[in-house]
Amino acid sequence: RVLFLQGGATLQFSMVPMNFLAGIGSADYILTGAWGEKAAAEARSFGSVRIATSTAEAGYRTVPQIDDIDFDPSARYIHYTSNETIEGIEFSNDLDAHGLPVVCDASSNILSKPIDIKKYSLIYAGAQKNIGPSGVTVVIISDEMLARVPDGLPSLLDYRKIAENGSLLNTPNTWGIYIIDLVCKWLADAGGLEAIQARNIMKARILYDAIDRSDGFYSGHADRNARSLMNVTFRLPTPDLERQFCTEAASAGMVGLAGHRSVGGIRASIYNAFPLEGAECLAAFMDEFSSR
Ligand code: PMP
Repeated sequence: RVLFLQGGATLQFSMVPMNFLAGIGSADYILTGAWGEKAAAEARSFGSVRIATSTAEAGYRTVPQIDDIDFDPSARYIHYTSNETIEGIEFSNDLDAHGLPVVCDASSNILSKPIDIKKYSLIYAGAQKNIGPSGVTVVIISDEMLARVPDGLPSLLDYRKIAENGSLLNTPNTWGIYIIDLVCKWLADAGGLEAIQARNIMKARILYDAIDRSDGFYSGHADRNARSLMNVTFRLPTPDLERQFCTEAASAGMVGLAGHRSVGGIRASIYNAFPLEGAECLAAFMDEFSSR
């Protein structure tokens, strides 16, 4: 079932444990960045949260190998963030949790590539990166998960009631949902998810290549196997140079390149709507800036 909700991905940090954890058992969280941390922190208000694995100590540069994750076989669900937007860390495959229900925060890479939907019990995403305007949250949930929702939750926080009412339990964000329809048609016309994935790979490669040929002037944050196709994060030798880079890039028409305030550095966010020419333009600027 596909549900259209409000409250952003942040409300899902609470709604997931409220529906599937409160009062019973424990849930496993995989931490590969700041958003996963926030999701786990919210879940602790509702029940027992176990960190199955975290790459925090190594500075959130990588994704864990599936065989290294020690899942609790009785976990109510496994939660992970398929793309960590701030650090630029992405899982390249669907997580295989050995039959345990997988809950995925896909806010920043949903619809960027095909996925095997059968591997997920619940996917949630704030719409504002790849799907549509802010103010709509998309939830994709299996019937099996819906059947587990306990009685007695406030209606607007109860996945089952929302599903039974076709996301019309109260007035939805009609304009936002209309725009999502247009974006989906745009995606289909552009060749669908395979085509958008091919374009996203090209865009990201253009920028990572610019990092890799800079002789260390630019240093990528993510390990190679965890490089995000959506958020390309890197540093320059000094914070002063990073500021100069952002200022000069802005003068050349490339804005919004400063990394998230919590980590600094540079972040080029290249979501579905971002054109290939934009990546080429930034890579040319990176070459020119580093040689100068
Ligand atoms: N999760 C991820 C991966 C995100 O990128 C964001 C927003 N940048 C959020 C959660 C929070 O989303 P919202 O602002 O829709 O609550």
